Amino acid sequence: MKRRDVLRTGLLSGVALFGAACQQKRPEGGGQPAASAHVRVHWRLATSWPPNFPIFEHGPRRLAELLERLSGGRFTLEVDSAGKHKAPFGVFDMVRSGTYHMGHTAAYYWKGKEPAMALLTTVPFGMNVWEQYAWLFYGGGMELMEKVFRPHGLLSFPAGNTGVQMGGWFRKEIRSVHDFRGLKIRIPGLGGEVLARLGAEPITLPAGELYTALEKRVIDAVEWVSPAIDLLMGFQEISEYYYLGWHEPAAELQYLVNERAFEELPADFQAMLLVAMKETALDTTSEFFARNIEGLETLRTKYPLVKVLRFPDEVIAELKRQTQLLLNEYAARDSLFRQVWDHQRRFLERARQWTEISEYYYLTIR
Ligand code: CA
Repeated sequence: MKRRDVLRTGLLSGVALFGAACQQKRPEGGGQPAASAHVRVHWRLATSWPPNFPIFEHGPRRLAELLERLSGGRFTLEVDSAGKHKAPFGVFDMVRSGTYHMGHTAAYYWKGKEPAMALLTTVPFGMNVWEQYAWLFYGGGMELMEKVFRPHGLLSFPAGNTGVQMGGWFRKEIRSVHDFRGLKIRIPGLGGEVLARLGAEPITLPAGELYTALEKRVIDAVEWVSPAIDLLMGFQEISEYYYLGWHEPAAELQYLVNERAFEELPADFQAMLLVAMKETALDTTSEFFARNIEGLETLRTKYPLVKVLRFPDEVIAELKRQTQLLLNEYAARDSLFRQVWDHQRRFLERARQWTEISEYYYLTIR
């Protein structure tokens, strides 16, 4: 059976496991074995995270375990953290070059390679988790993901969602947009660019350097994730204000896969990898939510002096206005960015109607 047939007719009742990425045409006579009864494959995965990083590293570790069990030990995966390869922001290049077969990282780190990648983690004031998964898997998102990454010799797959992220840890209260002026803040992606428009100095630093940078006042504020993981970083010990989020409503982590390595896998190993990536993505999304509940409880009971605040309404209005201007500017100068952004925007316009009369309404009456 040809690989495409396996994926089309197989495990999920004819629904493509990950959209178009697993249905692409291959040149005839590519020599790929249909199944792997006598094949052993060892892959290496590089993460963008520090060693043994909670939640983030559970995904790829679980992926390795699943692949080994599904394949009867014939498809093994070695997971290297940034502690080993020393290049948290080098994952794109290492996977593209084939130094690693795949990575566990985030698409928006690569906006310098391709602006549209900034849209494929999360977008300020954009879709929430379920809207985004609907867009990715049933709204044409995976096809656009492929269009963005394949020209770089890469395939990209969802790897789990943080859910709504917090707005960050600050040492001073933000009372108006002027308080962002000159503020050195660690915040990646489009959110950082929006804050720059308000006069802030956004900095992208690897996770392993954040606490020290904040403690030594190299930076004034740090945006990281949410209570699930922020408390493990210790930010609550050195900053007083913890703001609610706006910039990462549904940050999806990323499995980045070398296209050629994927195509050379036997068909059954490809299917195992696709299923295991999707399973671990759901697992990571679930774990983030559960750990956020625990993290918030810990914050409230053990660190009562930390003030959990909303940005003032006028600040939110300005952030939203600047987000629109920024996205429009990107779209005006980059056609691929415009294509992805228009697609997401149109989907969200439709999705929000349902969200409003389902999730949003329900939350107001619960
Ligand atoms: Ca973040």
